[in-house]
Amino acid sequence: MSRTVAIVGGGVAGLAAALCVAESGDRPIVIETRGKLGGRATSFEDARTGLVLDNCQHVLMGCCTNLIDFYERLGVDDLIEWHDTTFWANPPMDPDRMKPSWWPAPGHFTGSFLRMRQLDLRDKVAIARAMWRMIRLGRDGRAQWAGRDFGTFLRETGQTAAAIDRFWEPVVVSACNVPSAGCDAGYAMKVFQDGFLQDAWSPCMGISTVPLARLYDPAREAIVRAGGELRDSTSAIALNFDGRRITGVTTDEGIVECSAVITSVPPDRLAKLCSDTLRRADARLRDLEAVPFSPILGVHLFFDHPVMDTPHLVLPGRATQWLFRKSGEDGREHVHAVISGADAWMALDEAEIVRRVLADMAWALPRVRGLDPVAVRAVKEKRATFACVPGIDHLRPKAVPDPIAGGVPNLFLAGDWTATGWPATMEGAVRSGYAAAAAWTGQGGVVADVPPGRVASLLGLHA
Ligand SMILES: Cc1cc2nc3c(=O)[nH]c(=O)nc-3n(C[C@H](O)[C@H](O)[C@H](O)COP(=O)(O)OP(=O)(O)OC[C@H]3O[C@@H](n4cnc5c(N)ncnc54)[C@H](O)[C@@H]3O)c2cc1C
Repeated sequence: MSRTVAIVGGGVAGLAAALCVAESGDRPIVIETRGKLGGRATSFEDARTGLVLDNCQHVLMGCCTNLIDFYERLGVDDLIEWHDTTFWANPPMDPDRMKPSWWPAPGHFTGSFLRMRQLDLRDKVAIARAMWRMIRLGRDGRAQWAGRDFGTFLRETGQTAAAIDRFWEPVVVSACNVPSAGCDAGYAMKVFQDGFLQDAWSPCMGISTVPLARLYDPAREAIVRAGGELRDSTSAIALNFDGRRITGVTTDEGIVECSAVITSVPPDRLAKLCSDTLRRADARLRDLEAVPFSPILGVHLFFDHPVMDTPHLVLPGRATQWLFRKSGEDGREHVHAVISGADAWMALDEAEIVRRVLADMAWALPRVRGLDPVAVRAVKEKRATFACVPGIDHLRPKAVPDPIAGGVPNLFLAGDWTATGWPATMEGAVRSGYAAAAAWTGQGGVVADVPPGRVASLLGLHA
């Protein structure tokens, strides 16, 4: 007999869990407060421009095996465009290009790294020393750095100010959404070990060619086809707990009775769904308010002239870290600027935000100088992701209760902030959804990582 599983939240984690529950033969009921799917990785209709815009550019990498699997299951993987080259602004010269060569990993970036003109020899020697150290540390050595700050690692490996400013900072803050010096070293090293060094496919960058919200249309169909339901515009209000198990979810549209619940909402939202009795009964629910968050700012700018020659651009050493060339409809150019770890920007008004972003763009792109955008839209996400600060792992609960501490056996936790081992990413969200669904259904589970290349493995980066 198929059992009903209530899934609270229709973001990437909740949808990934719902697909797996549906595939197992159980009946998922997804409860989503908004009228659309995708949570923080979605799009909105912008009244000012009349366009469907993403709340922020979302990129994935080749190492995101579970997100790629999720897109394949939805049949939308062909809507992702892959880039093997990363462009780094270096005005007044053309951008530097980081592109893997045929050299085996971890040597695949050696050529383009040596050709990067924005770094001098001292910077490059320092960066190479740190990379070598990370290779030799391997995954076990990385685990020993977890809970310490990456700034210490940068100091221990003698990084120059320019290497930090123009190389480590843009990569770490974009991936982990906190400044490199204050990032948990385990996560910062994961970005380089798993995302850059271990093989040539992992660093490739995937970008959706359609608004993010469109990627989830097939999820809606798949859930309904499997006999499940998608209750959007419906808010969960409480998890109903009988002292031993969850019996259902109270929503603003009535009660959903179920055999199990998978929650995929952020921790502060989850706290609001739990009674004191429930929180006392399950140690995973005790520290929900303590999870720290970090903001991201995305700025859409429309120009009536083409301004970018590359599909994207890193702005090393600038407050605006990335530019993405989105499209050129109607002779217009749509550029999306991203500022991660954007605490200092949250109090600014849109005019000041645009002024600062334009100053960074004018530094990188000569054609922007003296040009005003014809339309802009800044999107502030104050609680964009959990902050990858040292010690964050103590606040990330597992999908299932700890066998020793005990807990509620039919309550499964998902969401990018749960214990996935990943920074706050769509990949982490899918992993959490797959893990939570597998814990209940006994089927499926997290997809394996990309295997490291042979040479990388021999040198220390074995799986
Ligand atoms: C600006 C920005 C840029 C980012 N860039 C990237 C990137 O480039 N690459 C990347 O991989 N990741 C990126 N991320 C992170 C990524 O968006 C998240 O890691 C991922 O989307 C989290 O998914 P989730 O399902 O865990 O949570 P959410 O997306 O937060 O989903 C939770 C869902 O629960 C719903 N909900 C909340 N409360 C209730 C309730 N009471 N009842 C019912 N439903 C409820 C919400 O509406 C939401 O839909 C970015 C995030 C932001 C904000």
